[in-house]
Amino acid sequence: MLEIQVKNELIKIVGKDRYLDQLEEISCYAYDAFVVEALPIAVIFPETTKEVSKILQTASRYKIPVTGRGAGTSLCGASIPIRQGIVLCFSKMDKIIDVNTRDRHIIVQPGVINADVQKALLPFKFFYPPDPGSMNTSTIGGNIAMNAGGPRCLKYGVTMDYILGMEVVLSSGKVIRFGSKNIKDVTGYKLSSLFCGSEGTLGIITEATLKVMPMPETAKTLMVTFDNLDNTANAVTDIIGSGIIPVAMELMDKLTLNAIEDSANLGLDREAEGSLLIEIDGVKEACEKEMNNIIEKVKNNGAVHIQEAKSELEREKLWTARRSAYGVFAKLAPDIVTEDVTVPVSKVPIMIRQIIKIANKYGLKVGVLAHAGDGNMHPMIPANKEDKEEWGKVEAVFSEIFQAAAGLGGTLSGEHGIGLAKAPYLPFVMNKDTIDFMKKIKQAVDPDLILNPGKFV
Ligand SMILES: Cc1cc2nc3c(=O)[nH]c(=O)nc-3n(C[C@H](O)[C@H](O)[C@H](O)COP(=O)(O)OP(=O)(O)OC[C@H]3O[C@@H](n4cnc5c(N)ncnc54)[C@H](O)[C@@H]3O)c2cc1C
Repeated sequence: MLEIQVKNELIKIVGKDRYLDQLEEISCYAYDAFVVEALPIAVIFPETTKEVSKILQTASRYKIPVTGRGAGTSLCGASIPIRQGIVLCFSKMDKIIDVNTRDRHIIVQPGVINADVQKALLPFKFFYPPDPGSMNTSTIGGNIAMNAGGPRCLKYGVTMDYILGMEVVLSSGKVIRFGSKNIKDVTGYKLSSLFCGSEGTLGIITEATLKVMPMPETAKTLMVTFDNLDNTANAVTDIIGSGIIPVAMELMDKLTLNAIEDSANLGLDREAEGSLLIEIDGVKEACEKEMNNIIEKVKNNGAVHIQEAKSELEREKLWTARRSAYGVFAKLAPDIVTEDVTVPVSKVPIMIRQIIKIANKYGLKVGVLAHAGDGNMHPMIPANKEDKEEWGKVEAVFSEIFQAAAGLGGTLSGEHGIGLAKAPYLPFVMNKDTIDFMKKIKQAVDPDLILNPGKFV
């Protein structure tokens, strides 16, 4: 419990109804989609930037940790209040402030769910490209704090590429605004790239102006299966190497395909060792030409089965299969760890082989799901964290996977971030001076170290 004086100050800012500190109320803010849990002391639901500012002024006066929270879907423990303190939950700051397709932007509060941004743009035939698998639940604040990606980021880029402007409250309570509504803006330091991906350790996002895109005329979707993973991965490098950048190239291995089929009965090829869900978009004629080229490339790489979606329903069915992968895999054991190492695209086949070899060495099941076109792989290991021996093996497997990725010129995360899960492994990909430099930035921006403490800095 916070001291009564502090509690009263906070309640004075937001009122009793938006301040929770009873165990049964705060328990569900102790976890996210990673496997660590930690209870906050209180959970507060601000409605305005002014309230956020006042809460941070109080927190910094009493040196109380503050962890921002969107939907709690972080896969690396980024939203876990590991040093307790206050969780600032943004579910009540969920307004779309302005939709302006003529100037190609949308202005939102941080608690707006990604899918609601898409819905707001649909009538204008515009869309917001970043599409994390969690888009139906995760928030724009969380997406920005994690620099979220998603399947179509292969062609369209990640969250950072769509931030035009932001409002951020610093740990002191000061409110800063940077960027603008302009598509081009090089005025001063690019502060959006400092806060985007900072996992709530530098400031609290209270508003964002995001760039939006006109919807392409058409999209074509293809599901291809292969009888070995090398051919699957080689098809990816062949397609990209020929100059075609699809919207998405999603790779699933046999274990993942079968887990989906067990759960959803979609008629997927159970014998396939690897599969690719490929989507392209653009004007109709160009799409047809590109699709023919892609079909030729996958055939050259020994494709066994090629299925082109003939209707929107068929397309949705293929994407449902892909999107359900994490959920169905998570059902295989009480817990699941999903990682997201990234390697240069040409190294995808080697990395997949390494992942499977490492997991086999420890006798663990691993499913591989990848945004293969940008080298971003999600090895998923279902296990039981209460079984200490098995859990030790899971940790050993991931440590070796991270080392293998680093050895191939890859990195620790393509989109899920570092959070608690990967903080110990930063030295695999960054030297000490670089890590010290990040710490200096943290100290300069948040001198009392109250913002999301205990994470990668
Ligand atoms: C099934 C599933 C699929 C996923 N697929 C993808 C994917 O395809 N691509 C991808 O990139 N990620 C994916 N993720 C991970 C996760 O959804 C993203 O990291 C997402 O951006 C988190 O958003 P959130 O609203 O849940 O944020 P939270 O998990 O609540 O918070 C994440 C981080 O953001 C900080 N934060 C939240 N709001 C604010 C704010 N207003 N100001 C400052 N900091 C804030 C938190 O402190 C924390 O550090 C997936 C997760 C799941 C469970």
